[in-house]
Amino acid sequence: MGRAPTPTRPLVERNRRSHDGGRCRVRESTRLVHTACPMNCWDGCAWLVEVAGGQVRAVSGVPDHEITRGFLCPKAQYYLERHRSPRRLRTPLRRSGSGWREISWDAALDELAGRIGKARQETGSESILSYTDAGSLGLLKGLDRRFWNLFGPITVPAGSLCWSAGLAAQEADFGANLAHDPTDHANSRFLLIWGRNPLDTNVHLWPFVQKAQEGGARVVVIDPVATRTAAQADLHLAPRPGSDLALALAMGQAVIEAGMVSEDFLGARVRGFEDYRRLCDGYPPERAEALTGLRATVIRELAQEYARRAPAAILLGYGLQRHPAGGATVRAIDALAAITGNIGVPGGGVAYATGFVTSSFADLGGRPAPHRGVPRAKLGPMLRELDDPRISVGIVARANPAAQLPRTAAAMEALLSIDFLAVVDFELTDTAELADLVLPASTSFEGEDVYACAWHNYLTYGEQAVEPAPGCRSDLEIYAGLADRLGLGDGFGSRRSPRDWIEEALRPLAAWGLGPDSLRGRSARHPAAPLVPWQDGRFLTASGKMELIGPGYSPLPDCPADTRFPFRLITPQHRLSIHSQFYDRVQTALGQQPEGAPVVLVNDRVARQLALRPGAGISVVSPWGRLACRIKPMRGLNPEALVIYSGGRVGQSCANILTPDRLTDIGLGAAYYDCPCRLEAEDVAAARPPLPGDATP
Ligand code: SF4
Repeated sequence: MGRAPTPTRPLVERNRRSHDGGRCRVRESTRLVHTACPMNCWDGCAWLVEVAGGQVRAVSGVPDHEITRGFLCPKAQYYLERHRSPRRLRTPLRRSGSGWREISWDAALDELAGRIGKARQETGSESILSYTDAGSLGLLKGLDRRFWNLFGPITVPAGSLCWSAGLAAQEADFGANLAHDPTDHANSRFLLIWGRNPLDTNVHLWPFVQKAQEGGARVVVIDPVATRTAAQADLHLAPRPGSDLALALAMGQAVIEAGMVSEDFLGARVRGFEDYRRLCDGYPPERAEALTGLRATVIRELAQEYARRAPAAILLGYGLQRHPAGGATVRAIDALAAITGNIGVPGGGVAYATGFVTSSFADLGGRPAPHRGVPRAKLGPMLRELDDPRISVGIVARANPAAQLPRTAAAMEALLSIDFLAVVDFELTDTAELADLVLPASTSFEGEDVYACAWHNYLTYGEQAVEPAPGCRSDLEIYAGLADRLGLGDGFGSRRSPRDWIEEALRPLAAWGLGPDSLRGRSARHPAAPLVPWQDGRFLTASGKMELIGPGYSPLPDCPADTRFPFRLITPQHRLSIHSQFYDRVQTALGQQPEGAPVVLVNDRVARQLALRPGAGISVVSPWGRLACRIKPMRGLNPEALVIYSGGRVGQSCANILTPDRLTDIGLGAAYYDCPCRLEAEDVAAARPPLPGDATP
């Protein structure tokens, strides 16, 4: 530890002067360091870090970055505050009775390596669980995979809590995950923002939407929640949660029925149109009306306007694929874009996520070991049932599964059933509180790395701004330390510096003049990344054509109608938090105590009908748990939807006590939103949303 920061070329080196008692004095030298946001956010912002006296003083957005444009969301400041916080962990902690004992890094790594080695010897390497996620991004963070590939096979989570159904869907349709460049939206005459809330969770997309709007594009938002984005749209439609597949197929049927299909595109570039047509035929808008709650005329008009105003872009979020039919939903939306000729044209497309930049890096993971995969969303119930071998040692890094996994009760039980659990993190999260050993992580200011995101095609070389806080280490240092202790140091490359790894990872980009030196102090758009994917009509599917969704999918609501649970719970992110980080800010913004009950958003008419007063206490009950909440009415929210922002603390505000451990149809995603629930209070014995025929209060 105590490595000196990599020498940086300051973008600005200045001596600041201030007036002090009539005399001018020179303040300490300030330098600006170029790096990127390490949080798992769409935007992938480029950061300027102001450093003085060996400390980070401020963070701001790079002004001339085409996407970042000099502004950041509030979470950048929260990240800096946590970096400086006295609550940040600064020494390894070993559980001791009901408390913690500070121990040295050598003692911590000796014990962890010993536990890992012993588990492999006594019960086999698959008795070790490595659980990582995207809580902290950076190319070097992925080197734990190299360690486990050398050591393995072990047990790892498969799939994603976040987005994998949508990824699998677009891979099935196009052969890869590519999205239109944000600058291309200026070419659109119609923007359909479907289940995405850029004003809260993708703020740097919004200027591109505004530019399209100013150029005459019509903006329509489909979202059961009346988001801030919906408030800015020309039209907001709030279908029943989980009915997006029915809506997409009905729109397809309306386009076909109106003879608005793009025959040129279909003939040359698409496979499976007849099967897709048969699927749509089963769901005309009149039938979809009953499923979505939207009038058939509205569905028909929307579909035909979308087809008529080509080029039209669809911008997808994650929410609509957090259902058992999540993959099919994205596939049906892709097909809608295809039949209207909106694939491979400027201003068109279905923008979900892009993996162009990350897939252009050299893979540092080494030869893959045949790890035992457990679907991530089912980890709670499955971990306890795993035997041959059962899990005896667990290591969690960049993740907080106790709070993030669905069905919290099962997840907690599973984590507690592990004989020895180690957690790498900045502070005592809900998962760290369950651990036997906690290892304090360094922040992104304290090391160099390379950053890319899933929305745009820029990559940033992040320079080290300051020395690591004494007592904190990077993931790379931790795994190198384990490798040395387990005799894997040479294979892992534990003597290699971060810079060595970065050079190797970026080697394939040398053809475009991109490497650590050329990227120093700046970000660069990957020159080969397409502005408009699939423009040449050649897809990366086995057939070389775009594949349309066929029969075998049911657009019916995910949960069977159950009068005991008449609402559906949605758990989106709030703009002030990211996953389980910074949720105290959400609580404060919503007028709650940080450790208090969360807010549940209820349609305002429903709230009036049920005599639910704003701020009143109520329980949200699902088949999997119960959570005490405070009522907050929301105008425009679908009447069957309840909303609790995700990321709360276990036992206080964590909505996952209510969510199911179901999987999506493809991609091993988490069907969080397949969550029937009800409201319970003494004076709300039979709370239900209004039904057709009810009097309007
Ligand atoms: S959280 Fe997102 S919007 Fe905020 S600074 Fe990071 S990348 Fe930018």
